[in-house]
Amino acid sequence: MTRTTNGPQDETPRRSRLLRTTTVAGAVVPLCLAGWLGWQAVADRGRDGTAAARGAEAAAPPSPGPSSGSPSASASPSVSADTPNSTPNGTPGTTAPGTATPGSTPGTAPGTASATVLAGRTVLLDPGHNPGNAAHTTEINRQVDIGNARKECDTTGTSTNAGYSEAEYSLDVSRRARAILTARGATVVLVQDGDRPWGPCIDERAKAGTTAHADAAVSVHGDGGPPGGSGFHVIMPAKVVAGRADNTAIVAPSNRLGLLLRDSFHAATGEPYADYIASQGLDTRSDLGGLNLSTVPKVFIECGNMRNSADAKRMTDPQWRQQAAQGIADALTAFLTTR
Ligand code: ZN
Repeated sequence: MTRTTNGPQDETPRRSRLLRTTTVAGAVVPLCLAGWLGWQAVADRGRDGTAAARGAEAAAPPSPGPSSGSPSASASPSVSADTPNSTPNGTPGTTAPGTATPGSTPGTAPGTASATVLAGRTVLLDPGHNPGNAAHTTEINRQVDIGNARKECDTTGTSTNAGYSEAEYSLDVSRRARAILTARGATVVLVQDGDRPWGPCIDERAKAGTTAHADAAVSVHGDGGPPGGSGFHVIMPAKVVAGRADNTAIVAPSNRLGLLLRDSFHAATGEPYADYIASQGLDTRSDLGGLNLSTVPKVFIECGNMRNSADAKRMTDPQWRQQAAQGIADALTAFLTTR
């Protein structure tokens, strides 16, 4: 499929400052990893009566949403509120050593806290790209205003060498995270849920958080770095006040979310910090429309390097993707239940 080049114009993290390669799109994709909090294991056990083993088949991929070829190809973001029945409710608990207990305490009555810990809170999940983007290059190549620059509406994203796309990955992990967060009482909105043929554009992805009145947002990606590099990293917003962008109010809370996500994701998946980009798993950028234009705390996560064979193997594994989702959900839970 047609792939655009990664780089500043791509909403995926820029290539390493060290090696800003012009990657042929289609060769670059990141991964995500899974969760860790021990209290979640307790919570899940209480909720459904079973303590699914870490990585158990309960991690089966959520059923695909409406075909990406559905006719709802409007230019507006197809923001759709999640409903508890739209995703699998299985969230394999973990037996990882995490003992943080945001809103819940291991040993408390089964599920009592977990079912309500996020009640009244709204989370926006932004699955990077769209599996249908490659077939809609005209639409996604349209330039949009991100405040301090103009860049493509959206990009195709990367993929593993075997062809597993970043768009598929990010949507699957987002759905898994939605299931976990919904079980904790949150209202979860996905920017796209496989229910539109392309996009939405990056500026619309940012606006979706405002529209949803989200308390926090995470954009899920897989990176397309150099084959020899591996690991994950989180991208936090730099302060951008330019044109239509003014994200001043979200920089500090987004940084807090970013740190929580870095730690939670690492604990849940065991994935190391990226060794080819960022520093200690953290980066700050001013060239991402999704962060420049956001009015709610938001970070990106590049769950792994889809061009790296070891990362690609993990990211292609449904059990690992469940762990990735767990890490993302746990970070959001911690962010929303602590100060
Ligand atoms: Zn991406």
